[in-house]
Parts: sequence; C-alpha cells; structure tokens
Amino acid sequence: MSDELKKVLVTGGAGFIGSHLCERMLADGHRVVAMDNLVTGDLRNIEHLLPEERFSFVHQDVTEFIHVSGRLDYILHFASPASPIDYLELPIQTLKVGALGTHKVLGLARAKKARFLLASTSEVYGDPLEHPQQENYWGNVNPVGPRGCYDEAKRFAEACAMAYHRHHGVETRIVRIFNTYGPRMRLNDGRVLPAFMSQALRGEDLTVFGDGSQTRSFCYVDDLVEGITRLLYSDEVEPTNVGNPAEMTIRQFGEAILKITGSNSKFIEKPLPVDDPKVRQPDITKARRVLDGWEPKVPLDEGLVTTMEYFRSRIQEEVTAAQ
Ligand code: UDP
Repeated sequence: MSDELKKVLVTGGAGFIGSHLCERMLADGHRVVAMDNLVTGDLRNIEHLLPEERFSFVHQDVTEFIHVSGRLDYILHFASPASPIDYLELPIQTLKVGALGTHKVLGLARAKKARFLLASTSEVYGDPLEHPQQENYWGNVNPVGPRGCYDEAKRFAEACAMAYHRHHGVETRIVRIFNTYGPRMRLNDGRVLPAFMSQALRGEDLTVFGDGSQTRSFCYVDDLVEGITRLLYSDEVEPTNVGNPAEMTIRQFGEAILKITGSNSKFIEKPLPVDDPKVRQPDITKARRVLDGWEPKVPLDEGLVTTMEYFRSRIQEEVTAAQ
C-alpha cells in the first residue's frame, strides 16, 4: 500500500523546541517520528501526541547507529543539551551529539535521500565582535572554555552539513537559533527565563549574573517554529539566522518578568559565567528575504504571559507532588 504522507524524523523530539516542531509537522499533515535519549528531553512534552496514529516515539541516542524503516523525507536534527548549565554538566554528551550524532544523522539523510535541517545556534558567533550578528560573520569563539564543547560541536556540525551537501548532494538546511522561550522549557535548566520566571513566581530574588547589562534578544517559540518550517520547505542551503531582533539587557528582561508576574522580588547579583557573551542580536535581513517575509509576530508581554501560565502549572504540580 503506498503512503502519500511525508515522514519526518525529529531528533531531540521530546525537547523544548523539538516537541513544538513535532506538533507543527503533524499539523502540516506529515508522519512524525520523534527520537530522544531523554537526557534533557522529557516524555511529558510529547505525551499528548502519542495517541495520534501518525506519531511515534523512539527512545534512542542519535550517536548510536540509527535505523528508521521505510521512507524518510525530512530530518530535523534538534538533539543536544542546550543550556550553559547543561554543557557544564554534560560536556562529552554535548560534543558527541553535535559531532558524532550529526554525522550519523547526515548518513541517514544520505541513505534515505531525505532533506536534513540542522539546529545550529547563535553560539557559533561566540562573544561577538560584530553587532548585530549577520550570517557572514565567522565569530569569536573560545574553543577551550566551558562553552567550547557546544560552540565547537555546532560549528563542526555546520561544516559536516555543508560537506555532505557539497560532496554527497544531500539537501541540507542550517538554522542559527537565537535565544528562544516558551512553554516546555525545563524549569531548572539554568537559562535566564526559567530561572527568572521560577524565582519571580516563588517570590525569590532574581539571580542576575554580572551587572545585568549584557544583552540578549528573545524569540517566542511559535515564531521560531514558523521560521524553521519555512526554512525547511525553502531551497536555502547557507546558514540562516532565526530569532527576534528585539534586544534588551538581562536586567530589562528581569523587569519585564517582574511586571508580568506581579512579583515584588528583588535582583541579586551573582558572578558572570566565563565567556558569557556581552551582546547578542540577530540580523534577520536574510531570513526576511529567503523565508517569504518571515519575522517574529509575538510581542514579549504576550509570549511571557503564555510562558508564565505554563510555569505556574508546573510549579503547582511540584508543590502537589511534594505534599
Ligand atoms: N543569566 C542571569 N541569571 C540567571 C541565568 C542567566 O543573569 O539565573 C544571564 C546569563 O549570564 C546570560 C543571559 O542571562 O548573560 C542569558 O543566559 P542563558 O543561560 O539563558 O543563555 P545564553 O544566552 O547565555 O546562552
């Protein structure tokens, strides 16, 4: 029996961004296989998808040989620890999934004649000396610092994708993802949104690293998923930034969270982590051009409210479980 539906493999499918992509791929009418070793992913992110006939989950580490039966049309490679705390705790796994895992998944893409999309990162720009960051900036990365395992693995992964494209003709796409937030972020992943949101909701002080003058630009996950999906369906091979260019200091971000949550929490300063980028802001001129006018639509206040509701219910669950 022939099956007209396209089949998509999402590695890291039980993660924050991966699970949102699974939903989007199902909504677009495809079959979806989510693969995850659940080191930082969580089955709760996809349990609502399990009853769907077009969805399946495979518990596997993508650095091991990957077998997927039948056709495969798209592979979205989103498996990786993705917060600075995770890289500190899982440096070898971070290197392995970015390097060996990407190699394995590209081999699978080649064998299946599938299109491959790599989740790369603004971290390839390191602590950038050019601002905002355009795709043609090669970056300022410390290979031997604590972030080196993530940054260099992702840089290797980009090189690997381009080599498979040039040498084997694999259809590859590379998205450079900037700071993204939304429901299903892990409460304790150490990133600034989960930290500030949990602290504000629990009435604890907000831990600002350094003086909080460093900048980031935060994109709501739905906007990111729309950009990634457009890139997947496009014919753009070179890396493309996808993120929200609305730049702010970490202190301003904390103030926005205090306002949304109505919290009276104060800021306390903690030491700035090693190699913490001083500025980060995507230049999305290219994304607008190649992704059919794509740009972020969700205002910060709106995205933060939805995210707060998710964090509230997760914190409530923890409280109930502890009783
Ligand atoms: N940060 C902070 N307090 C926290 C967690 C993070 O001030 O509790 C800062 C961190 O030093 C960085 C920014 O927030 O400058 C964003 O950190 P995150 O870990 O979210 O990701 P990054 O953008 O550094 O990869």
